[in-house]
Amino acid sequence: MDNVAFPATLVDVRGTTLAVATGPPELAGQVPLAWGTMRLTVIGCAGSFPGPDSPASSYLVEADGFRMLLDLGNGALGVLQRHIGLFDIDAICLSHLHGDHCLDMASYWVARTYAPDGPKPMIPVYGPAGTAERLAGAQGRSIAREMSPAFAFETLTPGASRIGPFEITVDHMNHPVETFAFRLEQGGRALAYSADTGESAALVRLARGADLLLCEASFADVAPSPPGWPGSPGRPGPLAGPPHSPNPPDLHLTGRQAGQHADRAAVGELVLTHLVAWNDRASTLAEAASAFGGPVSLAASGRIFDLDGPGNVFHTTS
Ligand SMILES: [Zn+2]
Repeated sequence: MDNVAFPATLVDVRGTTLAVATGPPELAGQVPLAWGTMRLTVIGCAGSFPGPDSPASSYLVEADGFRMLLDLGNGALGVLQRHIGLFDIDAICLSHLHGDHCLDMASYWVARTYAPDGPKPMIPVYGPAGTAERLAGAQGRSIAREMSPAFAFETLTPGASRIGPFEITVDHMNHPVETFAFRLEQGGRALAYSADTGESAALVRLARGADLLLCEASFADVAPSPPGWPGSPGRPGPLAGPPHSPNPPDLHLTGRQAGQHADRAAVGELVLTHLVAWNDRASTLAEAASAFGGPVSLAASGRIFDLDGPGNVFHTTS
């Protein structure tokens, strides 16, 4: 692609113009990142499935030239390229293996494996046990090791480790499949990400004193579960909640519960994410604000948060 001059015109043998290429897309929204700053860019924050204004879960975290993804849900790989180059990722962490958090890894494997100038170098992928097998299956590959030339898989276990410039602590959340929340620390700043979870004392511990908690808020406080969901009328199922609660336990949080977790953890700021299309976002925000006295806002694809020092979070864009 380097020797192609833009605009480039594609013609057929008769000289008829078939297409005009104006050039590679600009990296929209990329604001220079100061050295020593930790930046969070929301790539996707739609809960459970992509929405009209956001892919499913994916977050780009950068510091000191290192770029790491937290999750790569469906639709995220496209929007990611508005912010950084396709091959500029240094590491990927997958919170769990539900499709809305990992499915675009199958497409990313294709991109890294079949790039026109040759396969791209292997990058580390941290995830629950079985990540390689799940992604191979998603791509129609029967052998997990076929994924290996692109990705070096590391199995997450609760505890602390280092990835690039980040001190990372992970712990299990309350969700139907093995799920990890993350705490990232670098240069005196701390970012916590809940992944998907029901109420969790471990999340409060993990987020303790963080500058920013990116917390899921999938459920509404008062609306009943959609028909057919576990816990909904006529389908109590094994995940049915107590009679006074329309939401099943150990699955997701309401906005109010996200606010309560932020309050217990005494975080500096709460950002609500994993926002499901059929919920009213204003209500979710109001629920959280009723339980947490600090700054609280909704994630949105393209929002950038710069953590510029202990207790300082600058909203570069919103
Ligand atoms: Zn999930």
